[in-house]
Amino acid sequence: MPQRPYIVGNWKMHGTRAMLSEARAIDRAAQRLMKVEVAIAPPYTLIHPIHREAEQIAVGAQDCHEKEGGAHTGDISASMVADAGGKFVILGHSERRQDHREGNPLIRAKAESALAVGLRVIMCCGESEETRDAGDAVAFVTKQLKASLPPEIENPTELLAVAYEPVWAIGTGKTAQPSDIEEMHAAIRALLIKLYGEEHGEEVRILYGGSVKPENAAEIFAASNVGGALVGGASLTADSFMGIALAA
Ligand code: PGA
Repeated sequence: MPQRPYIVGNWKMHGTRAMLSEARAIDRAAQRLMKVEVAIAPPYTLIHPIHREAEQIAVGAQDCHEKEGGAHTGDISASMVADAGGKFVILGHSERRQDHREGNPLIRAKAESALAVGLRVIMCCGESEETRDAGDAVAFVTKQLKASLPPEIENPTELLAVAYEPVWAIGTGKTAQPSDIEEMHAAIRALLIKLYGEEHGEEVRILYGGSVKPENAAEIFAASNVGGALVGGASLTADSFMGIALAA
């Protein structure tokens, strides 16, 4: 049975306790929209407060450390995320790859650590504008994804989602053409089937991310193999975020 569309808000480094009212509004709206699975990844500091109040939405983290403990000042482990009420973690986001020089092996290690404590992983991938202009987008993304994903996952349908986010579309107002999204998602689908077998490979949701808004969401969701969205800027208010969820 196909899974519900998965709409995930990535709040990035936005949000103090003043944002809890927005999370509440998202949770209330999600209770009236059961055909969609809604989740938000706030900064670490808001995971527990949102978890405590939320009745419908899942809360997760935007990153975690690859180790389970030790002398790593300033870092947060996967089990700490789970302990705070987090149910998933976004990994391999292009801002982590760029700002923190995270490479595929490190991202894979983080994914293994997250899966080991039962967190769902949302694995991000995406090409730069130069790579797309050079005609290498599909080859680049499939290679990046293959190197970032753990080769074995117990229940990928349940515990994995992939987010295709062209780097040039994040926070820029530009979105990929539906035909480009379909081409990339089909290539990702083929890779997932190769890695995890037909049964799971067909079911893992592939989200699109990069300037998704209520105005363009319907067109994006109509593309084949789009199982949801990873939403940055437009997830910061309940109105725009749930406008996207409604279009799913
Ligand atoms: P955006 O961000 O929706 O603001 O483009 C998406 C993301 O980075 O996940």
